[in-house]
Amino acid sequence: MNRLLCRWAGGLLLGILLLQPAHAVDVRAIRLWAGPDNTRVVVDLSGTAQHSLLVLHHPERVVLDVSGAHLAKSAHRAPPGSGAVKSVRMSRSPSGNFRLVLDLARPIQAKSFLSTPNAHYGYRLVVDLAGAGAGAGAGAGAIAARADKPVKAKHAPSDARDLIIAVDAGHGGEDPGAIGKNGTREKDIVLAIARELALKINAEPGMKAVLTRGGDYFVPLRDRMRRARAQQADLFVSIHADSIRDRSIDGSSVYILSQRGATDEASRWLAERENASDLIGGVSLDDKDDVLASVLLDLSQSASLNASQVAAERVLHQLTQAGEVRKHEVQQARFMVLKSPDIPSMLVETAYISNPQEELRLRTPAHQARLAAAIRQGVHDYFYANPPQGTRIAQLAAANAARPVLATASGAGGAGE
Ligand SMILES: [Zn+2]
Repeated sequence: MNRLLCRWAGGLLLGILLLQPAHAVDVRAIRLWAGPDNTRVVVDLSGTAQHSLLVLHHPERVVLDVSGAHLAKSAHRAPPGSGAVKSVRMSRSPSGNFRLVLDLARPIQAKSFLSTPNAHYGYRLVVDLAGAGAGAGAGAGAIAARADKPVKAKHAPSDARDLIIAVDAGHGGEDPGAIGKNGTREKDIVLAIARELALKINAEPGMKAVLTRGGDYFVPLRDRMRRARAQQADLFVSIHADSIRDRSIDGSSVYILSQRGATDEASRWLAERENASDLIGGVSLDDKDDVLASVLLDLSQSASLNASQVAAERVLHQLTQAGEVRKHEVQQARFMVLKSPDIPSMLVETAYISNPQEELRLRTPAHQARLAAAIRQGVHDYFYANPPQGTRIAQLAAANAARPVLATASGAGGAGE
């Protein structure tokens, strides 16, 4: 019914367009961005236009025809090929339409959509090219597709992938963070703990740590999230050492994003989704209508918040074992770095650097290692209890669970491989 209506409306629109002068719409520019996972080509237009997209094989190429469009003088140069696109050619189709041909380096999946004007750009046709296997996800079911993305698979040689833990050392560079009475800077302490944590995580089979900063420099908060997203992190752990006026207060606390913070972030994503090429849980929002986009975002956010809570409880439990904890429940706050809508995230205030005894302890490698070990154990416990599908940890957790059975029935064969 819907499709019929669309086709009818499309036919009507095409009819109207045909009545208009031959080049009612100008092609103002062609832009191309190549990312590690997909390539986006944008055709800037002076107005709305009908278009068609065709994927052709042997050789692989994508053909975009824009009805009634005319190449503006300013746009005569096509961008050089990059990413999945070997070269970009512009021509006029036999029926007089503007034609863009993208010669491809490999078979890909292509989709196209018209974006309406925003603060930065006017009408534009967007062509997204994704590597073979990365489905052009549509609908809520596609949220689950994330684990199957080929990008993930490259982390592990076998069919099971490693878990990626983004370890974020707070502050850095010109931002020292909190400063203790004896001059200890939070940025140095948290980097030491983060490095130690990364080493310990990397020593675990099936887990891989990525540091959002590896030295004494500042990384903007959104860049920290972006780095974690680019690595397709399964968990984001930010390391801090708090400060408070009352110097007698000590102990660690663990935070996750508050519901309020999640709601703020959802409106931001929805408002900016036409500019962002980010995928939420493997799905792009920019071609979805408002209702579908907000439902997809909400599903992803609530799943992430639930996972954050469970993971944070595990880490808090381990910190309690390691020493004094200030707050025995997971806290909630609107920390920017925790706002990734599809990566479970937590912020660990390892200690109060403002407390002179804690400050001195924080400076010792032994205490740094103790804190890192507690966090690693919490992360380990969380993932062994909730292993994401398709990971080596899922296999290891299953093998652990099967061990007592195998012991009584020796020779019964290993777990499925
Ligand atoms: Zn801090």
